[in-house]
Amino acid sequence: MHAFNYHKASSVADATAKLAASEDARLLAGGQTLIAAMKMRLSAPSDVIDLGGIGELRGIKVEGGSVMIGAMTTHAAVAASKEVAKAIPALALLAGSIGDPMVRNMGTLGGSVANNDPAADYPAALVGLGATVITSKRKIGADQFFTGMFETALEPGEIITSISFPIPKRAAYMKFKNPASRYAMVGVFVAESASGMRVAATGAGPCVFRIPEMEKALGKSFSPDAVKGIKVSAGNLNTDIHASAEYRSHLITIMAQRAVDQALKA
Ligand SMILES: Cc1cc2nc3c(=O)[nH]c(=O)nc-3n(C[C@H](O)[C@H](O)[C@H](O)COP(=O)(O)OP(=O)(O)OC[C@H]3O[C@@H](n4cnc5c(N)ncnc54)[C@H](O)[C@@H]3O)c2cc1C
Repeated sequence: MHAFNYHKASSVADATAKLAASEDARLLAGGQTLIAAMKMRLSAPSDVIDLGGIGELRGIKVEGGSVMIGAMTTHAAVAASKEVAKAIPALALLAGSIGDPMVRNMGTLGGSVANNDPAADYPAALVGLGATVITSKRKIGADQFFTGMFETALEPGEIITSISFPIPKRAAYMKFKNPASRYAMVGVFVAESASGMRVAATGAGPCVFRIPEMEKALGKSFSPDAVKGIKVSAGNLNTDIHASAEYRSHLITIMAQRAVDQALKA
C-alpha cells in the first residue's frame, strides 16, 4: 500500500471541503473495495476521507411512499430492518444475500452504488425499483446513474448521501450466486408499481440494465410464463471464468421467472 493522508470527516460539508482541498482524494465508506484496491496498489489516492463518523449518513426512514436509506447504512442494517422488511421485503432479502457477515457488517449502500461493480446486487434494486440517488449536489434517477462498468454519473467531489426507494406493489430479486464470493453471476429484480413494471438485470453485462420486452410482457400478464420465452441476446453479455455470455443469457430468463414467482408469493 502506498502512503496516504487519512482524514475523518465530521459532516458532509466537511467531507466536501476536504475533498476539494486534496490533490487526489478518495472517500472511505466500509472499505470493502477501496482498502483491497489500495493494498493491491490498484488505487493510490493521496488522501483518504473517512465518512464513518458522519451520523447524518446513516439510518432508514419510511415516509411518503418511499424508503429512504442513508449512504453509510450497512448491508446488515438494511437486512435486519423491520421497516424495510415490511415496506420492500425484496430489498431486505437482497441486502441479506450480499457476501458474508463481515462484508455485510462493513459494506455500505453508498459504497456499493458508487462502486457500481457489474456483479453487485444493489444496482439491480435501484434500477428495478426506479430509485433516486441523492447526493451532496443533486438528485439522480437510477436509470441515469449507472453509466458503465464501475462508472456512474457522480462528478468529482460529489458524495452520495442517501437513496430513496419507492415502495412497489410487489417485487422480488433472484440471483444465481457465484458460490465463492456470492456476487451475482446473474441477478434479476422485478417490480410492479403504480407506474408500471420494471425488470433490471445485474451480473450479466458491463452494468445493470433494464429488459423492456419483459416489462411489456409482465404488463399484460404478471406471471412467470409471461417471461419464459424472452431471451436477452448474448451479444452484449459478459464471458469470464465463471460463465459464458450464452449461459448468462439463459440465467436471465430463469432468474426473471423465479423473481416473478417469488413476487406473486410475497
Ligand atoms: C468478499 C466480498 C464479497 C462481496 N460480495 C458481494 C455480493 O455478493 N454482492 C454485492 O453486491 N457486493 C458484494 N461485495 C461488495 C460489498 O458489498 C461492498 O458494497 C463494496 O465492496 C463497497 O464497499 P464499501 O461499501 O465498503 O465502500 P468502499 O470500499 O469504502 O468504497 C467503494 C467506492 O465507493 C466510493 N464511495 C463510498 N461511499 C461513497 C459515497 N457515500 N459517495 C460517493 N462515493 C462513495 C469510494 O470512494 C470508493 O471508490 C463483496 C465484497 C467482498 C470483499
